Amino acid sequence: MPYIKDNLPYNVPYQIYIDPSNLCNFKCNFCPTGNTKLMKNIQRPAGMMKMTTFKKFIDDLNLMVKKYKKKPSMIALFKDGEPLLNPNLPDMIRLINECNLSEKLHITSNGSLMNNFLSNKLIESGLNEIRFSIYGVDDGSYKTNVNKNIEYEKVKKNISEFWSVNKSYGYPVKVICKLMDIYSNKQIERFKNQFSDICNTLIIEKFHKWSDSENWDIKGKQKKIDDMEKDFICAQPFSRLTVLFNGDVTPCCVDWSHKLVVGNINSESLDHIWNSLCNKIRHQHIKKSFHEDSPCIKCDYKSKRTKYDKIYNQNNYLNKIYSC
Ligand code: SF4
Repeated sequence: MPYIKDNLPYNVPYQIYIDPSNLCNFKCNFCPTGNTKLMKNIQRPAGMMKMTTFKKFIDDLNLMVKKYKKKPSMIALFKDGEPLLNPNLPDMIRLINECNLSEKLHITSNGSLMNNFLSNKLIESGLNEIRFSIYGVDDGSYKTNVNKNIEYEKVKKNISEFWSVNKSYGYPVKVICKLMDIYSNKQIERFKNQFSDICNTLIIEKFHKWSDSENWDIKGKQKKIDDMEKDFICAQPFSRLTVLFNGDVTPCCVDWSHKLVVGNINSESLDHIWNSLCNKIRHQHIKKSFHEDSPCIKCDYKSKRTKYDKIYNQNNYLNKIYSC
């Protein structure tokens, strides 16, 4: 992974997230999408991406890749919801693949809707990597977290079936199974025992509270915002671009409230949005001058950032690059 600070400016986003569906069939305790009351309060639109919007994205990205002679290192087809809900998902992956627009095509899924037919379709579409988010280590813990009557064993069976189909193609897709670090050591061991034979990689991921989500409190020992390193600049708006289901664009993959939306792909070019409109958010980070309701002020996601993802405005070089 490159140091983001050494490669600025990215004329083509380093990574792109595109959301096939911001609907979800789970109602997870820790996830804003699963909080019906919250979604109603903030009036976040909901739906699935239309192919016309997706094709506009493809056309625009194609132009950028040709113009700047660079392509994103990864396109991830997920954001606010469960991507497998969109029946066009395999066609979307195939289209990106045919246009050779990225080094890696990734999806993250809860795995509950995976089946033999879909496994074949996804693998044949050219998918490179799938990450299954596992929300429990037995039926009880699973149902408590996802708040739906979905059986843990059924999800495990779906993932096992994907692994078998993947094997029949010679393992073209890297399979990752992920658990959050909110479980006891004994439960984490159980997770490892149950999934190590049906994936390439197991991940225990640090729980985070999303952007502007200080109220998500599934685990009482998160780092307080005040404890975080304050002088680094979040690399998200400088390197990641997210296209929401309705074509809105935000330069942050954890912007669940969509407060950072700067444009819409249906009415503006991706190039203009990324290389011009996104500067508004970048300037806020460089100058540490956020709007009072900006999700960046209390964002806990920053605490997850690695050394590759931290930018410091040494010698004001960001001011020069981004003319602010
Ligand atoms: S500070 Fe948080 S909300 Fe703001 S861009 Fe970074 S990750 Fe997104």
